[in-house]
Amino acid sequence: MAKDLYALLGVSRDASPEDIKKAYRAKSKELHPDKHKGDKGVEDKFKEINEAYEILSNPQRKQAYDQFGSTGNNAGGGGPGFGGFDFNGFGSGAQGADFGDIFGSFFGGAGGGRGAQRVRPEGADREIQLTIDLMDSVKGGEKTIRLQKIIVCGTCDGKGADGESKIISCSNCGGTGQTVRTVNSFFGQIQQRAVCNVCEGSGKVPEKPCRTCGGAGRVSGSADVVIDIPPGIDNGQTLRVRGQGDAGLRGAPSGELYVHMRVRPDPRFEREGDDIRSKVTVPVIDALLGGEVEVETVQGESTVQVPEGMQPGQVFRIRGKGMPQLGSSRHGDHYVTINVEIPKKLSKSERKILEQWKEAQK
Ligand SMILES: [Zn+2]
Ligand SMILES: [Zn+2]
Repeated sequence: MAKDLYALLGVSRDASPEDIKKAYRAKSKELHPDKHKGDKGVEDKFKEINEAYEILSNPQRKQAYDQFGSTGNNAGGGGPGFGGFDFNGFGSGAQGADFGDIFGSFFGGAGGGRGAQRVRPEGADREIQLTIDLMDSVKGGEKTIRLQKIIVCGTCDGKGADGESKIISCSNCGGTGQTVRTVNSFFGQIQQRAVCNVCEGSGKVPEKPCRTCGGAGRVSGSADVVIDIPPGIDNGQTLRVRGQGDAGLRGAPSGELYVHMRVRPDPRFEREGDDIRSKVTVPVIDALLGGEVEVETVQGESTVQVPEGMQPGQVFRIRGKGMPQLGSSRHGDHYVTINVEIPKKLSKSERKILEQWKEAQK
């Protein structure tokens, strides 16, 4: 789902704002729907490059995208001034509807007819990537990040109205949220319905729109978002933070924030689901005699009692000292593999003892 916005525009990641603009202009000319009437594939492509440019031409959103790989608005989500790509001005009177138009609205279905696309009142979902250390995953906890997104307009508190201006019925559609126009076609007269492009289907508009947000009730901005990381979260898992996506139109619900988790590996530990594996090196004498071995686990030092005659490569399990299990109070296990260290040099007395031992074995 996450698209490479640079690739869409055909520029490299370090392209200058001028290069991005140039590439966008060339692409939008090439793919403009006026030149490809009725070609849904080209239309979608056109939308994609518009969305890509919308993000990459805004320094804050570009930075957020570069940092987190967020695609920002999803198709149709829209922010202020991002009016759902009304290519032909559908509501602008009944003159000269062409064949493509009519077929589009007949057969195109929802979103197929040009201009009939409504702006979803709910805010768009957002996606970010968050990288933490393995030890953060063990403990879990809260992380606060600053997110560039569409936020509720602080001036009107999301209402979209200027001051105490009332919310009134939309005069463009008579409060129905839809506009109907009659067109003459090959098949006789046809009534076409479209979502009202003034109230965006809600049937209500502020009498005097808020001057900060132009009546949308939301603006581009940034917000601190607290992400609650559950202990045991694994690399590649996704958290959903409810209502922390983009703000909705005039107080409509916000989108969700999806946090794709990356857990940095720790050189000391190898994670296998809820279990942890590690290696520990013991002197040959301890391997022979057995006893206590100190093992570092994700939950701190642990002492393992081992029998005499420990073998190189032997694995011991330390129960419950692995990763926390997501959504439970249980833990995985820690498996430690024994590596036996043979001394490269012996002292005189050591050699003497070992020679005695050799003698004794005969
Ligand atoms: Zn406002
Ligand atoms: Zn309306």
